[in-house]
Amino acid sequence: MKKLLSLLALAIFIAACGSSNNGTSSNAKSKKKVANPTDYANTITSEDLKTALYKYASDEFEGRETGKPGQKMAVNFLKDHYVKYGIPAAKKDGDYFQNVPLEVMSPPDINVTVNGKAFKSIDHLVSVGSGESNTINANDIVYAGFGIEDEKYSSYTNIDVKGKIVVIKSGEPKNADGTYVISGNEDESKWSGFREQFASKRDAAKERGAIAIMFHYPEVFAMAKMRFGTSSGRMSLAGKNDEMYYFMINEDLAKSLVKDIDTNDESKVVKANIALDFKKKSEAITSENVAAYIKGSEKPDEVIVVSAHLDHEGVKDGEVYNGADDDGSGTVAILEMAEAFAKAVKDGNGPKRSILFLNVTGEEKGLLGSRHYTDNDPIFPLANTVANLNIDMIGRTDPKRKEGDRNYIYLIGSDKLSTDLHNVSEEVNTKYMNIELDYTFNDDNDPNRFYYRSDHYNFAKNNIPVIFYFNGTHDDYHQPSDTPDKIEYDLLENRTRLVFYTAWEVANRENRIVVDKAVE
Ligand SMILES: [Zn+2]
Repeated sequence: MKKLLSLLALAIFIAACGSSNNGTSSNAKSKKKVANPTDYANTITSEDLKTALYKYASDEFEGRETGKPGQKMAVNFLKDHYVKYGIPAAKKDGDYFQNVPLEVMSPPDINVTVNGKAFKSIDHLVSVGSGESNTINANDIVYAGFGIEDEKYSSYTNIDVKGKIVVIKSGEPKNADGTYVISGNEDESKWSGFREQFASKRDAAKERGAIAIMFHYPEVFAMAKMRFGTSSGRMSLAGKNDEMYYFMINEDLAKSLVKDIDTNDESKVVKANIALDFKKKSEAITSENVAAYIKGSEKPDEVIVVSAHLDHEGVKDGEVYNGADDDGSGTVAILEMAEAFAKAVKDGNGPKRSILFLNVTGEEKGLLGSRHYTDNDPIFPLANTVANLNIDMIGRTDPKRKEGDRNYIYLIGSDKLSTDLHNVSEEVNTKYMNIELDYTFNDDNDPNRFYYRSDHYNFAKNNIPVIFYFNGTHDDYHQPSDTPDKIEYDLLENRTRLVFYTAWEVANRENRIVVDKAVE
């Protein structure tokens, strides 16, 4: 008891010493008692989080797979919660649901003839890009060698690929001594390596206006057949298939197009009669984001987005993937925060800026719900969106963390666009929570690339400052064993309160946080 008392005294001392610059609530114009966020943070309890999560991550919700009945149950559960606590819908029409039109792609039917010789999908070529159904007839193709566009080496000098089918091959050129032309040493560049050349060669051809790429990459053709030729169920946003036709081609087709492809690196135009018939196969499905909102009392046009994804992996082989941590934990955290803010509004202490509680769908299918929000249908203009606090997995501990406090959280992205946001986040934590903030995965060179792997990224790419709250992966990550009994509810409570305090501060401070490190 004594220890607790002295800690409490210390906390009061620190709070009293806390500087009141940045115009926190001490600058409020009214003479009424200054609102204390702790009154509301304390309504976020491990008991409430637990009750909600045991329901949300129960087998009844069937793993909440995007487009499936379990996901529909999830969105209704969220909506009912907002209705119950009097938190309005964000959309003007009063609908809590934002429709997210999606399509499930199956491998397309492709038929190609080259000078009368027939080739067909799967056997001879596999579509790894996208595109609408189309027939392309041509009497030449452009062979662009390695398909490289670099300061040190270009496959595109003196060759025009606009509107053309471009044939390229894998790899990059070497000098006589075995070193690479581009690096000048033994290091491969981004024009080698599986993922790297796949993307960089596509982008180089696309930038120059090619309509289709045929990529001869013998080492990966079998894998491409497996990955893109037989699997169905790749999901994407409807109507977002403007990428480009991109095919991996086998040896036979490659040599029919460019006889000396294996030995010749020089770009050239090749005369040939080509007919390419592409039939897209897809099925439309609907899914929903859920969006509730608290209107700011002083600067209602400025919006803070608090997000978590509502979907998970569904049922596989008869087993329910409950997704209690991923991302049931973030979802119930948002529900509790919304409740806390609603209580503040009732007491006349509502936030100065608006807060959007955004539960997004399709995260596990490729961040689709958040991308629909930012790219197609932002309910509030992105220019007025102050920050995004995104929560994805905050109920567990990372078994790989050998040192440090159990009461930790990984923060990713906080300092990438806004020094202000990072400072607010740190100050608020010091003042109220004292959780160990671990920046391990914030490193630009982090091989896990978590910064790009959850919904905040769709806001960050628009230069909206973000913080991603994350406990790290564990053995139950994306397994049917990610169940609510394994959640550490005391930690979930602390972390939810931290996000709440941060949202409170960003919403109530005098000045909008500044984006001082915008990209491009
Ligand atoms: Zn997740």
